[in-house]
Amino acid sequence: MSKIDPDASGQPNPAQAVNREGEAALSLFSLPDLFDTLPEAVVVADRTRRVVYLNAAAEALFGYSLRDLRGRTTDVFYADHADFLTLGKEHYNGKTNPSFSPYRVSYRCSDGSRFLGQTSARGLTNAQGEIQGYLAMVRPARSAEQSVDTLQRLHSITADAELDHDAKLVATLELGARHFGLDLAILSSIKGEEYRVEHCRDPAGALSPGATFDLGSTYCVHALNAGGPVGFHHAGESEIRTHPCYRDFGLEAYVGCPILVNGTLRGTLNFSSAQACSPFSRDDLVFMQLLADTVGYEIHQNAMRNQLSLLARTDELTGLANRRAVMESLRWQMSHSLRSDLPLTVMSLDLDHFKAINDTWGHGAGDHVLRGFSELLGSVTREVDLCGRLGGEEFIVVLPDTDTSGGCVVGDRLRRRLAETPMPVSESESINVTVSAGLTSLQPGDTLESILQRVDHALYQAKQSGRDRLCIARE
Ligand code: GH3
Ligand code: MG
Ligand code: MG
Repeated sequence: MSKIDPDASGQPNPAQAVNREGEAALSLFSLPDLFDTLPEAVVVADRTRRVVYLNAAAEALFGYSLRDLRGRTTDVFYADHADFLTLGKEHYNGKTNPSFSPYRVSYRCSDGSRFLGQTSARGLTNAQGEIQGYLAMVRPARSAEQSVDTLQRLHSITADAELDHDAKLVATLELGARHFGLDLAILSSIKGEEYRVEHCRDPAGALSPGATFDLGSTYCVHALNAGGPVGFHHAGESEIRTHPCYRDFGLEAYVGCPILVNGTLRGTLNFSSAQACSPFSRDDLVFMQLLADTVGYEIHQNAMRNQLSLLARTDELTGLANRRAVMESLRWQMSHSLRSDLPLTVMSLDLDHFKAINDTWGHGAGDHVLRGFSELLGSVTREVDLCGRLGGEEFIVVLPDTDTSGGCVVGDRLRRRLAETPMPVSESESINVTVSAGLTSLQPGDTLESILQRVDHALYQAKQSGRDRLCIARE
């Protein structure tokens, strides 16, 4: 043991003592020997990015020995040559000291498998501070830190009010692909034996949304059987090498999980690659489950939002569009028709003497008639026509791509069908109901207000001139 120097006060100085002991211990090892004890991969390169040294962890991680690589450029480690060039420009340029910003990049091992690596590097400088070479430490990036990083990004995607539903799903696919270092990402829906690609990320461009596969021919069948996340890092060397997905698509790496929405299977979220990757840990699978749950929750939320918006636009009694929905749609249809120089016709309808029906047969019977009339409306119009209830016993029909004479055909058909269809008002009785209608077609310069005013005027005329008829407002 080294002698402990007393300090000025004559007391031994413990800090100095530890330093001396440390130096003594260090002198027993060479620097490379020390690096070999590190769990992290260390690569040392010269100024021109030629490999000078690999520690034992780097040899194990990349699958090369120092002898294989000495003198070759570090390009050999990159999955993508473009990354080698970009990093060269940004960091390994003889001027910038790269210690400043750790980065993540896709690396390639000697057997062709890829992995995402978290890299921190620094320049090795001489006494004048000039960069003489570089030392980089690489860790496979699916570490706890990366998971936290990905979680943060996932949170910003789900919380981003600017992103719509589809954009959120696509961003999540992108994020997962990056997290796992696998290039192919799919969000599928599953119905029976059909596997359908709803969203995907495929840099090769071979896959697009809408593509369908037999469920049994996808790896996802394993995730469904497991009822949770599964991962294969090197399918060709595993028990699933006989699986059709391996035979047909040669996918070596796969990690995927079923997506449940309200407890019901909706599909799967999965990431894969033709390149094998490093084995999936338990944490990776937990993470995979979390991604799938987040996507499931987003799908559920979106369904709720759609349902709410539908409710806000639907008339409760008849199921037709309500006033708000009709006005929105009419405004849009008008501008579209004016722009495209297409005809558009609007028909306003009001049941005749409806108050008397309520008074005679009761409000419930009146409601029944309103529903019966709505069904009739639906049956005499086309899919693209919009039928709405504006309130009470007043209805409106918007007829795109239809001129006045086409509108009259619809109006006459409706009145004929109504005459042929008595409406039940009690268990044993039915009554004949009539309707008055006003009709007008879009004119250049029309606004929502002007067209509604015209069609109301036509309806007023139909009422005034004896009801049970269709009147047309031409200007
Ligand atoms: P007109 O031929 O002039 O149109 O006569 P009318 O009796 O149909 O017209 P009026 O506007 O006087 O009466 C409309 C009636 O519609 C009065 C109201 O009680 C009834 N009403 C409004 N909303 C509803 C509803 O949701 N259900 C039922 N059953 N009746 C309704
Ligand atoms: Mg009325
Ligand atoms: Mg009426």
